Amino acid sequence: MSLYAPRAAALCPNPFCAIELELAAQQCPKCDEPLAVGLRDAMVEVDVAHSGESWTEALDKLESALHFARRERYKGLRVIHGSGRGSIDSWEGPGRIRREVLNYLQQALSDSDASLSPEPHNPGAHLITF
Ligand SMILES: [Zn+2]
Repeated sequence: MSLYAPRAAALCPNPFCAIELELAAQQCPKCDEPLAVGLRDAMVEVDVAHSGESWTEALDKLESALHFARRERYKGLRVIHGSGRGSIDSWEGPGRIRREVLNYLQQALSDSDASLSPEPHNPGAHLITF
C-alpha cells in the first residue's frame, strides 16, 4: 500500500498546555483536554490504479486506506483511480477500476457525513472529506 502521510505534529489545543500529542490520541494525557475529531489537517493519498492493480486489488487498497485514514483521524482521503481512458479493453482495465472505486465509495460513505467529490481539474482522482 502506498500511503503518503505527512507527519505533522499535533499539539494540544489547550493554550496553557500545548504539549505534543500522539496523533491518534483522543484526549490530552496532561490536561485531559478532549480532542476534537479532525485533529489532523492532512489528507491521506492512495493510488489504486497505477501499479497494475486488478479492480479487486484496487478495492482492497482503497478499503485499507479508508480504514487507515479514519482510524488515524485524517481530514480525508485523496483517491487516485485514473481517468479510465487509454485502454482498449476498458471494461476490465482502468475504466473498471474507476467505476468500481466510485461505486464502492458511494456505498461505503452513504451512512456517514463524509463527502465525495471529484478533484477539480483532474478526472483521475476523487476527494473524500470526513
Ligand atoms: Zn493538554
